[in-house]
Amino acid sequence: MKTMNEKVTMVTGAAAGIGLVSAEAFAKAGATVVLVDINEPKEQAEKLVSEGYKAVAYRCDVSDTRAVKEMIDWIVATYGRLDAALNNAGIQTPQRPMAEITDEEFDRTVAVDLKGVWNCMRYEIIQMLKQGGGAIVNTSSQGGVTGFPGQAAYIACKHAVIGLTRTAAIDYSAKGIRINAVCPGVIRTPMAEELIRRNPDLEKELVRDIPAGRLGKPEEIANAVLWLCSPQASFVDGHALLVDGAFSIH
Ligand code: NAD
Repeated sequence: MKTMNEKVTMVTGAAAGIGLVSAEAFAKAGATVVLVDINEPKEQAEKLVSEGYKAVAYRCDVSDTRAVKEMIDWIVATYGRLDAALNNAGIQTPQRPMAEITDEEFDRTVAVDLKGVWNCMRYEIIQMLKQGGGAIVNTSSQGGVTGFPGQAAYIACKHAVIGLTRTAAIDYSAKGIRINAVCPGVIRTPMAEELIRRNPDLEKELVRDIPAGRLGKPEEIANAVLWLCSPQASFVDGHALLVDGAFSIH
């Protein structure tokens, strides 16, 4: 079903993993999608175009406030509006107990995982206010509602993304802008593969704790994002949607 027909959309962190599969889902639902990443996702966008979808790549570091403003300005100058956005770019901190995480590691994690979402939301909202509405989804994590060993900076940011989402949703709900968060469980993406590579026993340990008995697929997050951005979710606002095979309620 073309739930996003004629919509202009953007996805950050779209070169790989959840972002790429979500961008593909937006395109397949009829939207024009801007694939945003610090590693310009040129080939990924060209592949979608070659399949008959509307997609374009844009290189941007979401932690750079000025670059994010320029990006949103470019999207509006090129396509006239911005209907939906997935703020998804994220990095992991090295896996270490909290007191061993350096200031530099903490600052970079906050810059990308929290300030990056802040930057994108701010300029998306400014545009959506001008056009009278829109939908935003921020990628938090199951780690936005639980702790996780050795990931203090990352987990703090993912909790903060939920707070940011809830507060912005209250601020802009009456203006027709819906803002939600998606909270993935462990999803088989390059980020998760890297964690498992560093600790080969991790996959078995994780699966043991996931009632669904398996890791999630990027498509399962993309489906939730698509629904949150669609008119079918018109009264869903400020919600943090767990998509984690029941891990965090277990
Ligand atoms: P990934 O590493 O596969 O992809 C992340 C993408 O973000 C990469 O393409 C990377 O280049 C891009 N990126 C990193 N820093 C950036 C920056 N400063 N500006 C722009 N782009 C940048 O990761 P993923 O597993 O697909 O994760 C996507 C999101 O989902 C992240 O926010 C992550 O925290 C969250 N998440 C992932 C999982 C999981 O198990 N994979 C679980 C919970 C939450």
